[in-house]
Amino acid sequence: MNKKMRAVLFYAPKKIRLVDVPMPVPGPGEVLLQVGSALTCGTDFKAYRQGHHMLGEPPSPFGHELAGVVVAAGDGVSSFALGDRVVAANSAPCDRCYFCAAGQNQLCDNLRLHNGAYAEYNLVPARIVKHNLYHLPARLDFPTAALSEPLACAIHAVDVLRVREGETAALIGAGPMSLLLIQALAARGARIVVVGRNSANLALALKAGAHEAISAEEKNPVMAVREATERRGADCVFEAVGKPETWLTAIDMVRKGGRVCLFGGCASGTVVPIDAHRVHYGQISLHGVFHHTPKYFRAAVDLLSQGRVKTDILISGRIALDEVPSFFDSRHGQSNPKVAVIP
Ligand SMILES: [Zn+2]
Ligand SMILES: [Zn+2]
Repeated sequence: MNKKMRAVLFYAPKKIRLVDVPMPVPGPGEVLLQVGSALTCGTDFKAYRQGHHMLGEPPSPFGHELAGVVVAAGDGVSSFALGDRVVAANSAPCDRCYFCAAGQNQLCDNLRLHNGAYAEYNLVPARIVKHNLYHLPARLDFPTAALSEPLACAIHAVDVLRVREGETAALIGAGPMSLLLIQALAARGARIVVVGRNSANLALALKAGAHEAISAEEKNPVMAVREATERRGADCVFEAVGKPETWLTAIDMVRKGGRVCLFGGCASGTVVPIDAHRVHYGQISLHGVFHHTPKYFRAAVDLLSQGRVKTDILISGRIALDEVPSFFDSRHGQSNPKVAVIP
């Protein structure tokens, strides 16, 4: 009893600390994981800078991409046993509300969010154990398995936009999330044009499978995409930055009748002055896409298990748990590239 573990907690924007907290004990339906690896994510950096509604009341557990080993299980857990290697999603739907019945689990009225990846142990809530915890094949290492969460978001976005073979998809942003979107788009046979500012990131985008990389420092990205599409604009555009100006660029960049995925979330209260004339008369479809569902999480775990995702370009190194606070501080909120946090 009175056992402790180390965990990084979020207290306020730009204030996270590694502290000792009581070792959790699994209740009915819950599972305790020893964290094998967590991954840093752009959402965590955003939360670090400005706070995030998905974190809950501070001080709150921090980090949401993790994989590990089951070390204890509560009553009633039958699908998982001690020693099982697993990846846990950072949410689970209720499966009872209107939105769950409509197949939109990500919008569940009672979505159970889950954080606490930057810790030695993670207590997985019963609902996630039931709906969103997955066994891993032996060959899948923990950092790679922890990519399931962002990959599930990418697969979700590409599915919502119903990207078809041969279509041109333009992507704004060349960070880690884009590297996953590129691979989800490539799996659909799309021609992929990436727009970014950082030349190292653009080189990675080409490695991930993009066909063309446009530097927004050197060219007007809207003109460049039009040039690449016989002046039409892209069939679909994915905005993966989350700023009003890039939302507008995304809408400018799409062809008449095209689809825009507004994938990058803007801060609460952000207002974007869109060209209403162009959206209406050009019949442009705007899709807000958020998060993932168990269906997409399962698809992500499967793709990673089959070795069909280039993951080496996504994870640039490893740090220890006690390095997390200084790592977030030294990066000044920049998420790129991802690193594995190994407790
Ligand atoms: Zn993430
Ligand atoms: Zn629900």
